[in-house]
Amino acid sequence: MYSGSRKTEMKAIYPGSFDPITFGHIDIVKRATRVFDEIIVVVMMNPHKKYMFSLEERLSIVRRSLKGLGSIDVDSHEGLLVDYVRASSSRIVIRGLRAISDFEMELQLAHANRRLLHDFESMFFMTDTKYSFISSSIVKEIISFGGDVSEWVPDFVVKAFKKKLH
Ligand code: ADP
Repeated sequence: MYSGSRKTEMKAIYPGSFDPITFGHIDIVKRATRVFDEIIVVVMMNPHKKYMFSLEERLSIVRRSLKGLGSIDVDSHEGLLVDYVRASSSRIVIRGLRAISDFEMELQLAHANRRLLHDFESMFFMTDTKYSFISSSIVKEIISFGGDVSEWVPDFVVKAFKKKLH
């Protein structure tokens, strides 16, 4: 019988490279805070991947970008996401979808993760259409050729980019 009150806090994990975080990622976090009581944003570290920003820089940019958005924790993890999830009190992992092309890869990842951890649950949020074509890679490409990216990343990220490129 429905007791009228929720007994557990709903917590979700949002993993990504965030190299760097964009307004698209921020949009996903905002949407997720309307559904979950707490979001843990996990900046992933893969030693085989080449990043523009160091883990410390990515963490600091993520923290600053998400300040004031609600109950958000920022953490980092090196290795398999399922290992992080296994050690966490949540089994829900948020991913963002921009287009059908994201779906194929995300579906594959979701199935693989569930195979590795049977109660791993993937949840997808669709970004606002105005962010549906941006990715950290496109932003990096545009700025490296001197283009304006202020529409897609916060001001202080543009500054961090400029510092890195000069
Ligand atoms: P990863 O290396 O795990 O793909 P990203 O930082 O590129 O890390 O992305 C993390 C998550 O955010 C993924 O689910 C990705 O689809 C989603 N994402 C990336 N860019 C956007 C965007 N513009 N709008 C919505 N979701 C996005």
